Amino acid sequence: MDKIIAANWKMNNDFCDVKPFVNYIKKNQKNKKNLVVCVPAVMLKTFADEAKGLVATGAQNCYFAEKGAFTGEISAKMVKSAGAEYCIVGHSERRHIFGETNEMLNKKLFACKNAGLKVIFCIGEVLEEKSKYKSVLKKQIVEGFKDVTDFSNIVIAYEPVWAIGTGKVATTDDISKVHGYIKAFFKENYGVDMPVLYGGSVKPSNSKDILALDEVDGVLIGGASLKAEDYIAIAQSR
Ligand code: PEP
Repeated sequence: MDKIIAANWKMNNDFCDVKPFVNYIKKNQKNKKNLVVCVPAVMLKTFADEAKGLVATGAQNCYFAEKGAFTGEISAKMVKSAGAEYCIVGHSERRHIFGETNEMLNKKLFACKNAGLKVIFCIGEVLEEKSKYKSVLKKQIVEGFKDVTDFSNIVIAYEPVWAIGTGKVATTDDISKVHGYIKAFFKENYGVDMPVLYGGSVKPSNSKDILALDEVDGVLIGGASLKAEDYIAIAQSR
């Protein structure tokens, strides 16, 4: 399987960046399998229309309710109808800045699955929790995946919070060790071979080593995904 190269633009880039970004990929990337770009919600439709058949479009978040009086929120169904294939659930910025709990993320996971979206479910420990990462990740998984029986179309993104946007990357030994733990946990507890992406300051200069690891099924990229040149350089290192 071609490893997944997922971009997370966060609250960056603009409508005028969509066409040049997609055109660059069209011209410069032969293997377009498993390329995913998660754009701000307002750009979903524009990106999906431009990138149709080339690159999968993803949302960065959605709300768990189907519809109703939730001013400012968007539903999983809306994300899907805008042309998106994926949705990120539980990014550390959602957990830590916006106070999203495992319980809420569990509901979002179900909402995305019900809407037919593929899910990139993020987990990760903060710096102070590094030595006890196993218990932190276990809690995020057990509570986030409560009552889940269909594990298809879900990938985990392991993103140590201390490595996101900081320039600090986990060592390849640490990545292998933690990914191994996550994969074993899913296998032992749910009987599932769960793909695990790594995220945290991935850039063209370190992506080859990270993507070469057997335990790594792809990457989730923030800062280095904003420019198509860097995003494609990472894709070409797989
Ligand atoms: C992210 O947004 O998920 C991320 C890993 O960001 P960065 O690559 O900038 O660390």
